[in-house]
Amino acid sequence: MEILRRPRRLRATKAIRDLVHETDLHVSDLIYPVFVVEGEHIKEEIPSMPGIFHYSLDTFQEHLKEIAVSGVKSVIFFGVPDHKDEVGSGAYDDEGIVQRALRLTKSLYPELICIADICLCEYTSHGHCGLVKDGCVLNDPTLELLSKAALSCARAGADIVAPSDMMDGRIGHMRRTLDGAGFENTLIMAYSIKYASAFYGPFREAADSAPAFGDRRSYQMDWRNKKEAIVEAALDVEEGADILMVKPALAYLDMVKTISDRFDLPLCTYSVSGEYSMMKAAALNGWINEKSVVMESMTAMKRAGAKMIITYYALDIARWLIEEA
Ligand SMILES: [Zn+2]
Repeated sequence: MEILRRPRRLRATKAIRDLVHETDLHVSDLIYPVFVVEGEHIKEEIPSMPGIFHYSLDTFQEHLKEIAVSGVKSVIFFGVPDHKDEVGSGAYDDEGIVQRALRLTKSLYPELICIADICLCEYTSHGHCGLVKDGCVLNDPTLELLSKAALSCARAGADIVAPSDMMDGRIGHMRRTLDGAGFENTLIMAYSIKYASAFYGPFREAADSAPAFGDRRSYQMDWRNKKEAIVEAALDVEEGADILMVKPALAYLDMVKTISDRFDLPLCTYSVSGEYSMMKAAALNGWINEKSVVMESMTAMKRAGAKMIITYYALDIARWLIEEA
């Protein structure tokens, strides 16, 4: 039998494979999530996320040095406040924990891209992402507060605000608010396609943001749906989003591909806490090769069409990329 086409020729040696490979993961693609808490001398590991910590601002300042030398260029901040109330006032307090972390970071590392996650759930006593009345999460009154939070973070130095609440109309409201206050150059990264996912479990422990009643299915997306995601992304584009996001990542690569094919804005995907915890737990048990599985997973996200990835593995990946270069 005569075989003329031999795809294996392109796989014969590492040099050939490197020559023809199609997808790259760069350190500039990575966004590192950080949890900041009130207090001093706090560096507390999150039990379900080994290797990820709560930092008070003094210990975070130390950690910032590691981030800076790692080569990672973007950080997304999540705040865990001491005080929570019905209206999530910590989210839009100019002296809030994230606002102070932003000012500190920008004063020390002005070139580091600072992204502020914008939501109320870490700051509300009921743990929902918006104002609650009679057991319902109110949409329109929540927009005012989200925009206030975005403006407060922009004033504190955020290069990008990233609303994660899934209220209708929040991107347009936020864009107008930022523009009206002279922050027309502050980018909006929209959590456009955010599914009501069980993969967020460890994050809720990390951010102490589990809802006190009910769940988030009246605002986060039903994971059985695909067309709905296109509607959400189209609205965010129309309302002025600069970057779109699909969250979670690994179980939703079809959506990363769909959104990347249909929309021309840069696309981010969030490899969420549950994805991290699963890989970490298996690695700690010696069941998988952590580095290989993580690099393969992240490259799959790029191959599906993500331009950037929010991942708790960012600092490890940065180190692995250097080792491999
Ligand atoms: Zn939220």
